[in-house]
Amino acid sequence: MRIDVLTLFPELFETFKRTSIIKRGIDRKIIDIHIKNIRDYSLDKHKKTDDYPYGGGPGMIMTPQPIYDCYQDIEKVSSNPPCIYLTPQGNIFNQEMAMELSKYPQIIFLCGHYEGIDERIIQNIVTHEISIGDYVLTGGELPAMVMIDCISRLLPGMLGNSDSCREDSISSGLLEFPQYTRPYDFLGKKVPDILLSGDHKKIEKWRKFQALLKTKKRRPDLFYKYSLSEEEKKILEEYDKNK
Ligand code: SAH
Repeated sequence: MRIDVLTLFPELFETFKRTSIIKRGIDRKIIDIHIKNIRDYSLDKHKKTDDYPYGGGPGMIMTPQPIYDCYQDIEKVSSNPPCIYLTPQGNIFNQEMAMELSKYPQIIFLCGHYEGIDERIIQNIVTHEISIGDYVLTGGELPAMVMIDCISRLLPGMLGNSDSCREDSISSGLLEFPQYTRPYDFLGKKVPDILLSGDHKKIEKWRKFQALLKTKKRRPDLFYKYSLSEEEKKILEEYDKNK
């Protein structure tokens, strides 16, 4: 997947591109991330990229010309790639949207800053307005990284074990069961014996129950949306009986 990011702060993406799974994805040519500096496209003699809002009010607005020219300069590897403007006014990002977006060969992210961007850019080039949550940040760079990270790990070959994202919290419809690694005893707390039993059927049942219980307690909204299989209903009943 080709990813293009339009930003005034390209340096924010440097360590992001050089770290962990994103780095591996780039090395394996699963993702190809191009960071474009909007300022390079400003025709203003001082390379200005913002101006006062018409009608008055606090803060500065990013001017349309450099963003538009920067967008035009992107090499399009597919026709009409989605152009996502990160904004607290957008639809709230979730795993389902990530799954949808992971199917595109190219995605363009437009990061706002200051008080945002000129509305005509939204009308002309933006296809999706997306927020990462109900809070306001200083720029769209962190939200773009959040989305790139989430979408990338869904691409085939990104994670070492492709099963690991299927079992993830949210992806599976439930929160994940508790996980343990060595040592067996840590600060007097021991790993549940069942995980050492070697009985895979029992372990799977225990994990499923833990996931169901945690989701029901912590995220009833997810739990009631989740359709329980016959097997899962049985697991819940069985544990209820033994309580
Ligand atoms: N005045 C604007 C907010 C500007 S915040 C408004 O009321 O909509 C500055 C920039 O940060 C925005 O242009 C956007 O790109 C980014 N941003 C801030 N909060 C965000 C969020 N929750 N999700 C995605 N992008 C966000």
